[in-house]
Amino acid sequence: MDRQRILEQRDEIEEMLKASELNDYDDVQELDDRFDDAARTVERIMVGDISEWVGQFYREWYRDWQDGDRDDPPCRCSNPRCSFKLGELPYPLRRRRSSIREGANGREALVSYLDSHPEAVVVDEALDRQAEIASEVGREFRQLHRDIEAAIMEAVDDEAMAKSAF
Ligand SMILES: [Zn+2]
Repeated sequence: MDRQRILEQRDEIEEMLKASELNDYDDVQELDDRFDDAARTVERIMVGDISEWVGQFYREWYRDWQDGDRDDPPCRCSNPRCSFKLGELPYPLRRRRSSIREGANGREALVSYLDSHPEAVVVDEALDRQAEIASEVGREFRQLHRDIEAAIMEAVDDEAMAKSAF
């Protein structure tokens, strides 16, 4: 996952959409919506307060494990009082203003947390999932780039056609 590259793609597409002057065309709304979706995902897992996303990932895991829908406990350590197993993220991962809150460093914070608590499979998987979502967003941005270009070409063609009709 190349965070910088994804942020650049996002800005580039935002510019394209602004500059495209495709306002009269129906497919622009669809392209806009897709862009908004992808940009929101970037905000959630890479830029904003990612502790919220991690907390949600953890809570889903914990609930599935409690309900018997998942065999793996959130943590495989031997401590029965381990907070992952008691339904709460450990203090360093949930305290306000912890380094995990900032998207840029949130990933690093999780990685370094694993140094001290390597059995925490839920953290390991949260990192994998985050990387996966990031590459999905990267793919969507590349596809959007192509689709916007295609829409612009089509608009240019339509205009040329309208002119030649006179
Ligand atoms: Zn543990």
